[in-house]
Amino acid sequence: MSEVLNVEEIFNQNVFTVGLMKERLPRKVFAEVKRVMEHGGELSLEAADVVAKAMKDWAVERGATHYTHWFQPLTGITAEKHDAFVTLPDEDGKMLMEFSGKELIKGEPDASSFPSGGLRATFEARGYTAWDCTSPAFLKEDATGVVLCIPTAFCSYTGEALDKKTPLLRSMEAVSEQAIRIVRLFGNTTSTKVTASVGPEQEYFLVDREKYLQRKDLIYTGRTLFGAPAPKGQEMEDHYFGAIRERIGSFMKDLNIELWKLGIAAKTQHNEVAPAQHELAPIFDSANVAVDHNQLVMEVMKKVATRHGLQCLLNEKPFAGVNGSGKHNNWSLTTDDGINLMDPGDTPNENIQFLLVLACVLKAVDTHADLLRQSASDVGNDHRLGANEAPPAIISVFLGDQLQDVVSQLISTGAAETCVEGGVLETGVSTLPDLVKDATDRNRTSPFAFTGNKFEFRMVGSGDSLASPNTTLNAIVAEAFCEAADELEAAEDFDLACHDLIKRYLTEHQRIIFNGDGYSEEWVAKAERRGLPNIKSMVEAVETLTTDKAIDLFGKFHIFTEKELYSRAEVLYETYSKSINIEALTMIDMAAKSIIPAVSDYTGVLADTVNSVAAAGVEPVSQKEMLIEANDLLTESVKALKKLEEVQAVGIAMSEGKEQAFYYKDVVMPAMAALRAPIDKLEMIVDKEMWPMPSYGDLMFEV
Ligand code: ADP
Ligand code: MG
Repeated sequence: MSEVLNVEEIFNQNVFTVGLMKERLPRKVFAEVKRVMEHGGELSLEAADVVAKAMKDWAVERGATHYTHWFQPLTGITAEKHDAFVTLPDEDGKMLMEFSGKELIKGEPDASSFPSGGLRATFEARGYTAWDCTSPAFLKEDATGVVLCIPTAFCSYTGEALDKKTPLLRSMEAVSEQAIRIVRLFGNTTSTKVTASVGPEQEYFLVDREKYLQRKDLIYTGRTLFGAPAPKGQEMEDHYFGAIRERIGSFMKDLNIELWKLGIAAKTQHNEVAPAQHELAPIFDSANVAVDHNQLVMEVMKKVATRHGLQCLLNEKPFAGVNGSGKHNNWSLTTDDGINLMDPGDTPNENIQFLLVLACVLKAVDTHADLLRQSASDVGNDHRLGANEAPPAIISVFLGDQLQDVVSQLISTGAAETCVEGGVLETGVSTLPDLVKDATDRNRTSPFAFTGNKFEFRMVGSGDSLASPNTTLNAIVAEAFCEAADELEAAEDFDLACHDLIKRYLTEHQRIIFNGDGYSEEWVAKAERRGLPNIKSMVEAVETLTTDKAIDLFGKFHIFTEKELYSRAEVLYETYSKSINIEALTMIDMAAKSIIPAVSDYTGVLADTVNSVAAAGVEPVSQKEMLIEANDLLTESVKALKKLEEVQAVGIAMSEGKEQAFYYKDVVMPAMAALRAPIDKLEMIVDKEMWPMPSYGDLMFEV
C-alpha cells in the first residue's frame, strides 16, 4: 500500500492565505487588508508593519530565511532577488530576524538590466516593486532553502509599468467598472465588483534529461533545430488520453503535490496528442492569481522534471512534424455575488443580459482581432499559429449550434422566439443511462470558442505568460461594455434601445463568427473576403500595439500609455531578433562542430568501404551511390552553413528594432531552414552510431 496522501492538509501549506491572516492579524488590521484587497487603496504603514511581522513569523516558523519581491518583467518569466531577514546584531552579538511594513509594500531592486524598451536609460535605472495584496504571498521551498515570495508589480521611477502584472491589474479594474454599469442596467444593485476569471490548460513535453543534455538546440533554445521525423508520429492517435506510463505518472504525482502546497488547484492531467506531450489544468481563479499561478506551474514543472531525470519542454514547437503546445485560456466574468455574465442559462434567447454581453464580446473581438492575435504571439508560437496547426492565425469566434441559432434569429427578425435544446443522447445500451446533451458542441479548431459559460482563447503559447492575452481581453471587452452602457444609460426606453443595440452589434460584427473547420484552406479565403486580419507572424503583429485604435483603447482605460505601448513594441522586436539570433548561432555551432564532422567521418568510412570492396574484385555499386548522395548533401550543408553565417553576421550588426526583427524573420529564418533540410536528410542515411545526437524517436518515444 502506498502512503496515504492527505491532500486537504497539503493544500495551501505554503501560502499565507486570507484564513491565516484572519487568524494571525488583529481584527482591525485584518479588516483593513481585506478592504484593500477587495476595493483597492493603500494600507497604512502601521497596518503594513503588523502584516509584515505576521507574515515573517509564519514564514520563519516554516523554515524561511529570506524574502523576495517576486515580479514579472517583460522577459515573460518571473524575477526574484532574495534578502535574508537578518538585521544588524546588537552589542551582545544577538541578531533578530526582522521584516518591516515598508519592506513588504515597496522594494527597489537595481533592475537596470530588465528590458524596458527605452523607458529607462540605464543611468536612471530606478525601478520599484509594489506589493500586490490580491495575490497571496507564498513560500518557495527547494535546495535553496525556504524563501517567502511576495507577488509584486514592477514600475519605473516615473510610474510607467515595466512588467506584465501592472497592466493586467489595470485591465481588471477597467472591465470590472464597465461590467458593473452593464449589470446595473438590468436592475442589479447588489454586485459591487466583477472579476475576470481564468483557467489555463497547460500543455508540455517531457523528455529524458540525459538525452536532452546531448542536444545543444534544446539546451539553448528549448526546441529542436534539426531532426528527421521518427518512423511514428501522432497518426495513430494512441497517445491522446492514453494510459499514463509510470515514469510520467510519478512526475505528475510529485508535481501535483508541489502545486497543491502552493494553493494551485491542479485538477486535470492527461496525455496529449503528440508523443511525449501532456497537459495539466488547474481550477480557474481570478485572472491575476491565475497568471501568477501559471508562472509557478511552469517553474515547478521544470524543477520536478529534473528531479525525475526528465526535462520539461515548454517551447511552443519543440519538434517539427508533430503538434506543438499551447495554453487554452478559459475566461469569464463573474460578479462578487456569484453571477457569471457568460452563463446563458437554459434559455439564452430570453436572457437579455447575456445576449448583450455576448454581443459586446463579439464586437470587442471583431474590432480588436489584431490586438488579440498580438497578445498571443511569441517567438515559438510562430511555428504553431497559421503554420498548419491548431489554431489558425485568424481570429474568429465559435458559438455552437444553440447560440448560433439565437444569433441568427436576432439578426434576421430582431427577436429570438425559440431556442435549440440539448435533448437526450441515447446510448442504445439498456444498462447505460441516456445522457442529457449539452446544447453547445465543441470545435477544436476555433481560436476563440464559447464553451458553455466561458470563452476559451486557444491561441496562447505554452511557454508564454498569460498576462498579455488577459490584459487585452479585459481591455477590449471593457471598451465594448463602456460604449454599450453610454448608449443604454441615456436611452429613454431601455428595453427597446437594448434590443436595437444587440441586433446592431450582432449584425455589424457577425463576420467574426465562424463555426466551421478553422484549419481548412477555404476558411483562409473566406476570412479574407470577410476582411478579417490574418497576421502570420509575431513581428508582423507588433505594429497592432501602436495603431491609433490601440492607443485610444488602452489610453482610455488607463491600461497602457502611448509611451508604454511603444516601449513594449520595442521590447518585442528586440526579443524576436535576439531569440532568432541564438537559434541561428546554435545551428551554426551544431552543424560546424558536430554534424558536419560526423558526416565527413561517415563519408570517409564509406570511401574506405568502396575501396576495399573494389580491391576484393567486386563493383561497389550501392556503396558508391551512398557515398555520392552523402557527399552531395554534405556539400549542400556546408554551403548553407556559410550562408547562414553570413546573414547572421549582418543581422547582429544591425541596430535593434523593427528592421532588424524583419531581417531575422525574412532572411535569417529561411537560411536556417536551408541548413536544416540537407542535414535532416543526412540523418536518415548516416549510420546511427555516428550521428552525434539523439533522434526524434529517441527523444519522443524512449522516455
Ligand atoms: P477542456 O474540456 O476544454 O479540456 P478542462 O477541464 O481541461 O477543459 O479545462 C477547462 C478549464 O476551464 C479549467 O481550468 C476550468 O477550471 C476552467 N473553467 C471552468 N469554468 C470557468 C469559468 N467560468 N471561467 C474561467 N475558467 C473556467
Ligand atoms: Mg481544452
